[in-house]
Amino acid sequence: MNRLTLAVSSCLLGDSVRYNGGHKLHRWLTNTLGQYADFRPFCPEVGIGLGIPREPIRLIQTDTGTRAVNTTNAAVDHTEALQHYAQSILPQLDDIDGYVVMQGSPSCGMERVKLYNGHAIPEKNGVGIHTQTVLQHRPGLPVEESGRLSDAALAENFVQRLYVHNQWRTQQPWQSAKALIDFHSRQKYLLMMHDYNRYKSLGRLLADLSDRESLAELGQRYFIELMDALKKIPKRGQRVNVLQHLLGYFKQQLSDKEKASLRHSIEQYQNAIVPFIVPIALLKHYVFLHGDAFPYLVQQSVLDPYPESLGLRNPI
Ligand code: SF4
Repeated sequence: MNRLTLAVSSCLLGDSVRYNGGHKLHRWLTNTLGQYADFRPFCPEVGIGLGIPREPIRLIQTDTGTRAVNTTNAAVDHTEALQHYAQSILPQLDDIDGYVVMQGSPSCGMERVKLYNGHAIPEKNGVGIHTQTVLQHRPGLPVEESGRLSDAALAENFVQRLYVHNQWRTQQPWQSAKALIDFHSRQKYLLMMHDYNRYKSLGRLLADLSDRESLAELGQRYFIELMDALKKIPKRGQRVNVLQHLLGYFKQQLSDKEKASLRHSIEQYQNAIVPFIVPIALLKHYVFLHGDAFPYLVQQSVLDPYPESLGLRNPI
């Protein structure tokens, strides 16, 4: 698998750029994901010329929308500067696979940032100005917050999306109808697992590529929807459904005993006795043994969505 390139809030890499001169080193990011990814750090507040240390800023709700202002003096408004900075770095996001942002920050937070609206207690429904601008201009880019990465299911989901994005970016399947169909075919069971309806609708979208807008435009539309669908965390039943579909391929090749052991492993997962990695590892074993008979299965990204050594399927 390719090495990833990720944009990251600088403070998560241990850079002392926070308002108080500190950092928020994220060890899973640097020590674990860092084995497979190169990082491109951005600190928007330093990027717009604020010092270290500096007065903290916060989000306030005004008649003209959400503003990022100094905590002690709301007349010092950084909103436009942060938006311009985000726009200025967009070219540097063209060859990345995702962005990890610092939670809760009025600049970098992705969701539930404190938003002051005149009441004593702020609501937690703001989005950092920098990240909001990036999200607007880069739909389809996987973006995740540092805090959410300690949730096993969210971390697994994010890393999976990073690798799908990396395939899209590096293979450029929008260059031909065949490449686009091949790309979609590889994501078939992964997509089915996350969002069955979108699995159907995206299949229809690509059903006739003869009389369409340009492939690049159609591909972009397809990809944004695909990435949106993959954000959904699959329920256990959705995973079981895909496992059963995959089991269906082995009718001829496996003995009754082997099929029974696969079924047993799927049932154990269904009953939360073993993690998802157990039936998947067994399926992969048989795909490996009978690969020639299953060229379609060999290429399915649901079997190998990211490096196994990340161990992300062990707890789910
Ligand atoms: S949260 Fe963002 S703006 Fe704040 S220190 Fe970290 S990188 Fe800089």
